[in-house]
Amino acid sequence: MKEIHMADLRAQYERLKPEIDEAINSVLQSTAFVKGPEIKKFEEELSGYLGIRNVISCGNGTDALQIAYMALGLKPGDEIITTPFTFVATVETMGLLGLKPVFADVDERTFNISPAEIRKKISPATRAIVPVHLFGQCAEMEEILEIANENNLYVIEDTAQATGTDYIFKTGVKKKAGTLGIIGTTSFFPSKNLACYGDGGALFTMNDELATKIRSIANHGMKVRYYYDSIGVNSRLDTIQAAILRVKLRYLDSFNEARRKVASFYDTALNDCPEIITPSRTEYSSHIYHQYTIRVLNGKRDKLKEFLLSRKIPSIVYYPLPVHLQKAYRYLGYSERDLPVSEMLCREVLSLPICPEIDMEQLEYITKTIYDFFS
Ligand SMILES: *Cc1c(COP(=O)(O)O)cnc(C)c1O
Repeated sequence: MKEIHMADLRAQYERLKPEIDEAINSVLQSTAFVKGPEIKKFEEELSGYLGIRNVISCGNGTDALQIAYMALGLKPGDEIITTPFTFVATVETMGLLGLKPVFADVDERTFNISPAEIRKKISPATRAIVPVHLFGQCAEMEEILEIANENNLYVIEDTAQATGTDYIFKTGVKKKAGTLGIIGTTSFFPSKNLACYGDGGALFTMNDELATKIRSIANHGMKVRYYYDSIGVNSRLDTIQAAILRVKLRYLDSFNEARRKVASFYDTALNDCPEIITPSRTEYSSHIYHQYTIRVLNGKRDKLKEFLLSRKIPSIVYYPLPVHLQKAYRYLGYSERDLPVSEMLCREVLSLPICPEIDMEQLEYITKTIYDFFS
């Protein structure tokens, strides 16, 4: 059996090698390493795929969040409601700008921010809601957009883990994750579903004026060369990464479909394991399984993780501690039991290997080993 990886980046490269190598080589030949023509082509192709007017690429998914908050003119002291069960970037960028993160707890079935909990956290200082489509499945956007409308709030979608996920409205209309709020942000970090070979990110918006502002902020706040309208940052996608992403975008749907097949295998195989809860699916979102994340009950998560590792099966805890209990965010004044669902999930979750390249032999070995642990 081949060695098992959380995500087999090497196997994927081998598979796409001729196309990827050619894409990289053509950029090397052109020497247009920054702002080369591949950038615009990639942005247009991604906007076509997502069905959104504007895609603005940038240096990484963390910058995309920071640029989004800056472009919307959010000011120090403004309150932003978000989830504590996320990668730190969602919140860290708020802290950098002096914005005040206000945490709303998540739904234990979907791991995503709960609309009912959002309602409880709205104050006169609230300016925005930042849902994170965690592990590849959308938060309950229709309800979140309604809350935002009623209270005149911006919605910024952190789509780093859900590029390609469909949101399904009650009417049956589908839209891509990241295109529902005023701005969507994403990351092309190597392990994401749409990924490059280094750092990369992007922002999405329907609003042309906002798109212009975003472009300017990502380029030092400059509109006319060497004249600065606002304080900006230097955050660009490399041309080489854009060339790689153009190749990978063509495979995104088929790779996501392959992940769904892996997830279905796990679902069925783990169904009879009483101490495991497999990830739930919802009627309002497709799932692209950025992670396949189970809950392990009765305090057995860490023991299972060790057992798997002793049999050469990697697994990862996303995330071991919610953001509100992290040392860096103590200044916000939260304590234990403030957000009980997120805290419980941090004790129970375990993400299993998933990628388009994982094979049946590996999957059977993984699930059999999990049963061995519980028997
Ligand atoms: C990966 C990730 C980011 C940050 O992306 P980088 O490109 O690594 O900066 C932000 N939010 C979430 C939810 C992520 O998973």
